[in-house]
Amino acid sequence: MSENLNPFAIAQAQLDEAATILQLDPDMHAFLREPMREFHFTIPVKMDDGRTRIFRGFRVQYNDARGPAKGGLRFHWEETIDTVRALAAWMTWKTAVVDIPLGGGKGGIICDPRELSQTELERLSRGYMRCIARSLGLAKDVPAPDVYTNPRIMAWMMDEYEMLVGHQEPGVITGKPLPLGGSAGRDDATARGGICITREAAKVLGINLVGATCAIQGYGNAGSFYHSLAEDLLGIKVIAVSDSRGGIVNKNGLDSAAVKKHKAETGSVIDFPGADNITNGELLELEVTVLAPSALENVITARNAANIKAKISAELANGPTTPKADEILYENGVYVLPDSLCNAGGVTVSYFEMVQNAYQYYWHVDMVHERLDQKMTKAFYDVHHMAQAKNVNNRVAAYLVAVDRVAQAVRLRGWV
Ligand code: GLU
Repeated sequence: MSENLNPFAIAQAQLDEAATILQLDPDMHAFLREPMREFHFTIPVKMDDGRTRIFRGFRVQYNDARGPAKGGLRFHWEETIDTVRALAAWMTWKTAVVDIPLGGGKGGIICDPRELSQTELERLSRGYMRCIARSLGLAKDVPAPDVYTNPRIMAWMMDEYEMLVGHQEPGVITGKPLPLGGSAGRDDATARGGICITREAAKVLGINLVGATCAIQGYGNAGSFYHSLAEDLLGIKVIAVSDSRGGIVNKNGLDSAAVKKHKAETGSVIDFPGADNITNGELLELEVTVLAPSALENVITARNAANIKAKISAELANGPTTPKADEILYENGVYVLPDSLCNAGGVTVSYFEMVQNAYQYYWHVDMVHERLDQKMTKAFYDVHHMAQAKNVNNRVAAYLVAVDRVAQAVRLRGWV
């Protein structure tokens, strides 16, 4: 079975399905199918050896009807404009699902950050900001971390922006380090939001999560924090985890602190003492209660969807499941917690960060956790009730909730 794996074609197909069910006005549908604005630029960077290397960068402001564009920056060797378009579209639906007053955007640079020195990475980050600064700002478009970017990169970019505009404006970017106006609780926010959604899903499904098993694909910011929080907050036993080099499994459970230490020392989770090495593909097909795809797009496809044995798939990654795989999972009774709902905790705390930056007054971490939980829980039930009312899977339900909210804002502005 051949499948179109272009992420933007997938994002458009998902929207098309929702538009049909919503009986969306065709002009509105046509407008929401395309990004409102996109920027392509060339970033010259002085390398440590004295040569200049040329990098390609993108920023897509998909839709800002509900508020300034919002979304991360990804540094990845396989970045393409269509991936960025898809991720920007998904941010638009994500901010609408959790009902925060923001639009959707995304950016990226084609580069392999693992091959760059810290000084090269700094010059690349500052170079990116110089290319896009005039189109960013807390009332225009606000970037954040994503795959292979981090608080340190956000700090360089914020500094570069402030130097260019000549005033302080920490809210131009989120996911900053705490001393520069970052929010308490932003570091584990994506995973913590996913924990709230997993908890509510288990309630409606009548599943007891204490002692239940979990496999996590991807061990970056989202996956590694999901490991410790699933243990600490839900009593889940994580039996398998993986990163780009491969996975490990131990049916008796993997201690998160020990695995994190091992990865910090060796660069990977593989060869963890007391566990067996497995492939990423094998990890996805393990018999577990919760599967958490937490890496990149298109890992659950028509090829392997029928072999997924998890009861719940908690999507901490963006776009891990293709539309064909979605159909197969739904038929097989796998309860999918779609990305726009399950991983929205990150952007929700980014929004809290923008609010705190705007009034220069910072919240205690308990307040962040409480407000995050409220937002996630409300979003879960908005999607759950929509799925029940329309008899559709959770992905389609999340689209119905989000597209309706974005379309309302577009209509009220008089754009369509
Ligand atoms: N990169 C994260 C996401 O995909 C966070 C975006 C943000 O905080 O703006 O949701």
